[in-house]
Amino acid sequence: MTEQTTKRFANKKILITGASQGIGEDAALHFAREGAQVAINGRKAEKLRPLLDRLPKPVSGEHLIVAGDMAVEADVDRVMEETLKGFQGLDVLICNAGMQIECPSEDIALKDFNAVMAVNVTAVVLCARAALKYWRQNDHKGNIIVNSSVHQQVPKPHYLGYSASKGAVGNIVRTLALEYARFGIRVNAVAPGAIVTPINDAWTKDPEKYKATADHIPMRRPGECREISDAMAFLASKESSYITGQTLFVDGGLTLYADFEQNWSS
Ligand code: NAD
Repeated sequence: MTEQTTKRFANKKILITGASQGIGEDAALHFAREGAQVAINGRKAEKLRPLLDRLPKPVSGEHLIVAGDMAVEADVDRVMEETLKGFQGLDVLICNAGMQIECPSEDIALKDFNAVMAVNVTAVVLCARAALKYWRQNDHKGNIIVNSSVHQQVPKPHYLGYSASKGAVGNIVRTLALEYARFGIRVNAVAPGAIVTPINDAWTKDPEKYKATADHIPMRRPGECREISDAMAFLASKESSYITGQTLFVDGGLTLYADFEQNWSS
């Protein structure tokens, strides 16, 4: 076998939203290393160009930049159109773009709540809508992976929009999975715990806060982007061919009620 034919995602076409940094950037590099053609999205094309230059060449075709704001319906529709046209198809949609805004809940501004919901929830629905329409029209067994969060399950005080949005994502995944399972279309989520990315600069760049965060995690360390990309690759691969409607928590044990590590209750 040639090196090219052993690549797991050779000839696969994958769109990743929010790929300019953090987990999305790492996922783009991961899938490209495994042979895929990747379409990388972010708000500004110029921020994506350095990443495009670093992506290993795909086994076939070219990678794409599909710039657009995931909070704007017309942009999302255009990004999906450019991807489907540019690639002449799509195999895996990865809805990764996400944001959060901190505020005590009694002071929350509707515009901030809506801004978080627009990127974390509405964009997922709009991207999925376009991909599903295309896959049904072309009888294609596509695959959707949404980047959720442990806060799909665990409350996050002072981040009401984020908690609400990730809770919604869990049920969007389950609903779409059930609706499209009979067509061979799979829909799953990964739910990262605390991962070292720019969204977490506030504690990753401060040694004391870093240690305080690590101490809360049963595995005593935050996760790396690679550990989320690995989970995404599993859900995008044939190895997970009978898995749909699931959220795969990748969190070093963060959702395991860490307070029960020591026996204090009995
Ligand atoms: P990040 O801030 O480093 O990256 C977020 C990406 O989304 C960036 O590329 C950003 O440009 C993009 N984005 C944000 N708003 C956008 C918009 N309107 N249009 C297009 N792109 C937009 O954060 P990250 O940690 O890499 O987060 C990626 C995903 O992982 C998010 O959905 C986040 O909720 C989720 N997540 C992260 C963690 C963590 O600890 N880092 C934990 C749980 C879940």
